[in-house]
Amino acid sequence: MKSLDGIKPFEKKVWLSSPTMHGEELEFMKEAFESNWMSTVGKNINEVERLVAERIGCRYAVALSAGTAALHLATKLAGEKLYGQARPYEGTLEGKRVFCSDLTFDASVNPVAYEDGEAVFIDTEEDTWNMDPVALDKAFSLYPDVKLIVLAHLYGTPGKMDEILDIAKKYNALIIEDAAESFGASYKGKETGTFGDYNAISFNGNKIITGSSGGIFLTDSKDDADKVRKWSTQSREDAPWYQHEEIGYNYRMSNVIAGVVRGQIPYLDEHIARKKEIYQRYQEGLKDLPITMNPYDAENSGPNFWLSCLLIDKDSMSPIVRGEREYLYQSQKGKTNPQEIMEMLSAINAESRPIWKPMHMQPIYRMNAFVTRQGNGRGRTNAYIDEGEIVDVGADIFRRGLCLPSDNKMTEEEQERIIEVVKRCFE
Ligand SMILES: *Cc1c(COP(=O)(O)O)cnc(C)c1O
Repeated sequence: MKSLDGIKPFEKKVWLSSPTMHGEELEFMKEAFESNWMSTVGKNINEVERLVAERIGCRYAVALSAGTAALHLATKLAGEKLYGQARPYEGTLEGKRVFCSDLTFDASVNPVAYEDGEAVFIDTEEDTWNMDPVALDKAFSLYPDVKLIVLAHLYGTPGKMDEILDIAKKYNALIIEDAAESFGASYKGKETGTFGDYNAISFNGNKIITGSSGGIFLTDSKDDADKVRKWSTQSREDAPWYQHEEIGYNYRMSNVIAGVVRGQIPYLDEHIARKKEIYQRYQEGLKDLPITMNPYDAENSGPNFWLSCLLIDKDSMSPIVRGEREYLYQSQKGKTNPQEIMEMLSAINAESRPIWKPMHMQPIYRMNAFVTRQGNGRGRTNAYIDEGEIVDVGADIFRRGLCLPSDNKMTEEEQERIIEVVKRCFE
């Protein structure tokens, strides 16, 4: 660690990204309570579905218990569409490969495993930190039978949608769009969550709009929306008794949670504006350091700036080794590394987080195929990368990157102090 002389810790912790409540949330929760719609039916749920569909610009929305639930049912729908209805107890993707974002949260891709498919991870590009269209095209040349792509917009920054849509069209593949982190972000004037054949947003506690938990499935297809609604309520058939002809799930959103989401939706643009200010203040405050911020295509996309991140220049990295659960680094003058910055921020009571560790480096997915621009590979161990040979873009961003405190409620003074601490790391 470097010196923190003269810098006082925050009395109240500054979070990475915590819920920002406004008051209406409580009113709608109370409405649910007082009208006794304390279940998975009620006005709040209907309103959330209406408001999100309207905002996003899609025809149907189905409110669910989590973004993961939305992604699971999206994945199941895609599997059924592509490969037909599965036999009971079998996943719809049994034995099928699916191309997936590599630099993402594991909830994007776990549903592929729930449906018995096999995720093939696609490397990341450096311009937006999302799925690399060049690597995706390469993957189709290696596995021409693949028919499904799962892609996420990392940290609220839209990926290269034109290129990816072209490739999907060329190979006749469907897209599941994981817009969990990117609610309100747009690409060429169109909101994320409308590009895929099946789309999902999350209302988890740390997302830009939250219900404490919750998620939503988005589509223009009435049949798909009806199916997701049915599956999410235990696949009850239209019969006088509980009649089940398909496996079901208990995935519907609660009307109380929906009250929170409903109260938050009018504040989405305000939250985005705050997040953008935070990003720009970091950009300005850190501009003389050997770092770059998480990049985006300013001409064609409008991120929601959910998390502000930095990437340390290669030449300014001090030596660091990461094992599975621990790390070791050498503190060096004029250089730093993400763990040192995290320790320094933690010492002043501010929360930061490493870049999401890529899926191909995760023990659970390490044996899955992984495709870079150069071609096919397997997941690598951390040690391999730390010998100095950077083998893929995702591992490199993980190695050199960090998510900075990006909380809406952080004051300018607090952010200035955080910037000062990051500067100290490079002394
Ligand atoms: C948060 C998140 C999810 C999962 O959403 P939950 O509502 O927490 O289930 C999925 N994908 C990504 C990229 C996320 O960040």
